[in-house]
Amino acid sequence: MHNQDQALIFELSTPGRIGYSLPEMDVPELDLSALLPDGYLRTEEPELPEVSELDIMRHYTALSRRNHGVDSGFYPLGSCTMKYNPKINENVARFNGFAHVHPLQDESSVQGALELLYDLQEHLIEITGMDEVTLQPAAGAHGEWTGLMMIRAYHEANGDMNRTKVIVPDSAHGTNPASASIAGFETITVKSNEHGLVDLEDLRRVVGEDTAALMLTNPNTLGLFEENILELAEIVHGAGGKLYYDGANLNAVLSKARPGDMGFDVVHLNLHKTFTGPHGGGGPGSGPVGVKVDLIPFLPKPIIAKRGEEFVLDYDRPQSIGRVKPYYGNFGINVRAYTYIRSMGPDGLKAVTEYAVLNANYMMRRLAEYYDLPFDRHCKHEFVLSGRRQKKLGVRTLDIAKRLLDFGYHPPTIYFPLNVEECIMIEPTETESKETLDSFVDIMIQIAKEVEENPEIVQEAPHTTVVGRMDETKAARKPVLKYQQA
Ligand SMILES: *Cc1c(COP(=O)(O)O)cnc(C)c1O
Repeated sequence: MHNQDQALIFELSTPGRIGYSLPEMDVPELDLSALLPDGYLRTEEPELPEVSELDIMRHYTALSRRNHGVDSGFYPLGSCTMKYNPKINENVARFNGFAHVHPLQDESSVQGALELLYDLQEHLIEITGMDEVTLQPAAGAHGEWTGLMMIRAYHEANGDMNRTKVIVPDSAHGTNPASASIAGFETITVKSNEHGLVDLEDLRRVVGEDTAALMLTNPNTLGLFEENILELAEIVHGAGGKLYYDGANLNAVLSKARPGDMGFDVVHLNLHKTFTGPHGGGGPGSGPVGVKVDLIPFLPKPIIAKRGEEFVLDYDRPQSIGRVKPYYGNFGINVRAYTYIRSMGPDGLKAVTEYAVLNANYMMRRLAEYYDLPFDRHCKHEFVLSGRRQKKLGVRTLDIAKRLLDFGYHPPTIYFPLNVEECIMIEPTETESKETLDSFVDIMIQIAKEVEENPEIVQEAPHTTVVGRMDETKAARKPVLKYQQA
């Protein structure tokens, strides 16, 4: 590798070298000391790297090539759909009329933008089987919190002040119990049974007059469909609780089954996952929340409504939990999701689910001979393997994940969910070709063989990456994030 690829930008610095040329200043220089209080004035010049424009260009281009994203390779991360984001979404989001509107413009001058948001709400209502939708929340976890705050407001409006507990299965995404805590609830965990589904006996034992809600992902985080969903809904509703659906990864049921029809009262979607907003690196996201009729009064305000032919922001909502985000959500991501829904159409969205589920089952069956399959059933969009067979030979799931890096793959999710030993959780998504799936499976099989024949090569992986095996604890607890002169 060329030396410049490895040096820090500070190490490339040569005194006096600059990356710009500006004309001589032809106005008097400002006397900053007259404008700013003493404590705010810089006393020493900052140490900045001195490089040419070309140096800086090559440096950051080289760094960017080290990144892995869906546009550069397969990214089979379970529980967090990482699928291709069609580029037409980007084109549409860049239309002047969308990119250059200002959130404080008068409603009459942004009718087109409001119509798009209103239509998106209508599509999401149809897709989820709910009665109303808010587009405000900026991410999935934010949607969870918003939904739980509405459930809280609902119980309080009924004078039901003792509903302080939210039930969450042990296979839930980590944000579920976290959101419940932030919304002021206590979390109660229900176990999964030997089939990987919610244990109904355990559920019956924990529901009661203090139950505010049950939060559930269906299919669950093991990629399994909760077959007893209607009975489960009856148990929770029977105790006066509400049912919350974590719809972050709806590509397992899109256009096939709807949370609303399964009995759920609240659902959030991740438009930056299922509906192809680009994500990774922290956003921006969009986590709309849909509700059934009894929760509509508590929706964040404003919601986008239609009065005759006009689209308006409706603030007249006295029981609303208030605003959860400035303005009306992450508009650009909502434009991308709208573009995706309209360009796929109903048949396209149905195909999404069919391919997502087919791809996952295909990979699961091909890998089942080489890795343990803890739940031997049809999966939905993702599936879970266990590396316990390999662990007996001294190779951990972490080593297998590191070995995948040598072949240019982003590893799947590992050690989650917690109820499977040496867990490997794979979601191929609907957008990958059979050739890509086969290449990945072939490498996973090769690694399984290496574990038997030559375990060191896996234990010591990765061998081909810029950075080798790190001290994970130190990297997480004591990261060095700024340049320090040795
Ligand atoms: C990604 C995900 C979330 C959280 O969504 P964010 O947008 O990252 O906050 C919640 N639940 C499930 C099942 C997810 O996959």
